[in-house]
Amino acid sequence: MRYGIFSDVHSNLEALEAVLAFFRKERIQSFICLGDLVGYGPNPNECVQKILNLKKIQITAGNHDYASVGLKELTWFNDLASRSIIWTKRHLKEENRNFLMRLPRLIDVSDFTLCHGSPRDPSDEYLLTPRQYLDNLEFFRNPVCFIGHTHLPAIFYADSLGMIQHRPLVDGETIQLDPQGKTIVNVGSVGQPRDGDVRAACLVYDSEKYEIKIGRCPYDIAAVQEKMRQYSLPLFLIERLSYGR
Ligand code: ZN
Repeated sequence: MRYGIFSDVHSNLEALEAVLAFFRKERIQSFICLGDLVGYGPNPNECVQKILNLKKIQITAGNHDYASVGLKELTWFNDLASRSIIWTKRHLKEENRNFLMRLPRLIDVSDFTLCHGSPRDPSDEYLLTPRQYLDNLEFFRNPVCFIGHTHLPAIFYADSLGMIQHRPLVDGETIQLDPQGKTIVNVGSVGQPRDGDVRAACLVYDSEKYEIKIGRCPYDIAAVQEKMRQYSLPLFLIERLSYGR
């Protein structure tokens, strides 16, 4: 099966459309979304609807999704994130709010695990270090776990000598996973990349070949920024799309 995996769309419709066009070329058969469909960007309803319309999709909840429907306190967020969540809360249609409320925190499929942050703390932990990778191993039983949340595409695994390896995932690179190992793969962010590459990030997972490939998709950043300005969303959130930080 060829899976198209993506995360952290953050209400960025143009970036989402670019990723879905890339997935069409990649002959994707099934989709996975790892949460934070909304928050930050100008098109929460359109993004939720577009993701819902994908056939064969599995979706886990992100911290922004829960906060935008009142399932998480705003005290967890910095001031700019809180302002965008309050805006999102006001604009979300009821049907989309109801949908986000029902999203699970973690999904265990037969041979992989899915969540937004980490298996240990599915909607909140920012998994960034080898130490955190080690601490999370006991919380998933599959050979691979796909996550998002940090907006940084990366892979964590133990090599043949048992050393923990952690590195960013580079555009176009194909990586063979170890079916006997335990790998954590961060698929990056569609709608607000923070690794210095402004293009939307996503991942193709071929479960037969046991291979992953990161994809980076250019999109019309200026169009998104213009909408954010019209809605008076915070300037920093508008500008960071130009830097990918
Ligand atoms: Zn996010």
